Amino acid sequence: MGGFYTLPELPYNYGDLAPYISEEQLRIHHQKHHQAYVTGANDLLKRLDEARKTDEKIDVKSLLKALSFNIGGHVLHSLYWRNLAPAGKGGGKPGGRLGDLLEKEFGGFDRFKWEFTQAALTVEGSGWAALTYCGLTDRPLIMQIEKHNLNIYPMFRILMVVDSFEHAYYIDYKNDRAKYLESLWNIINWDEVGRRLEELLR
Ligand code: MN
Repeated sequence: MGGFYTLPELPYNYGDLAPYISEEQLRIHHQKHHQAYVTGANDLLKRLDEARKTDEKIDVKSLLKALSFNIGGHVLHSLYWRNLAPAGKGGGKPGGRLGDLLEKEFGGFDRFKWEFTQAALTVEGSGWAALTYCGLTDRPLIMQIEKHNLNIYPMFRILMVVDSFEHAYYIDYKNDRAKYLESLWNIINWDEVGRRLEELLR
């Protein structure tokens, strides 16, 4: 029997993203919402372990669906925390290879920012926007991820994600997703996003 998932520590303090994301909002998002996916995934793994022991004929389809929702939630949140930076240390525009790549693909950073914001703003229901990289074409590609687990292209590496679930912003921005997204550009950790690209192209 293998291991279980654990909630990662944040790479900064709960108050460090303010005023863009408040301490209260970040604490609840990390300790309650992200934790719920970790707990959910582990409970489902335990359920699987038990069923295998007794050869119980469980509903595999619904279990796998729930498992992908929870594992997807855990993996995406773990990426999200790390592609944010404390206020004053993030935002602006990316440089280096990432900057060049976005410039080449989108014709300019502002165009990328607009397309990415549209993706995050219009994702159906709850979900995510992700900047990914396709190794087959050497092109960055924006994806919408519905809930945590649908519409993902397998094997595309994720460079950056933005959480568009209402639980990511309701305390600070009520239902104003656009205002939250605009604010978030101030705390994107471009160094981390660029590092993920470098790792991929190495
Ligand atoms: Mn979330």
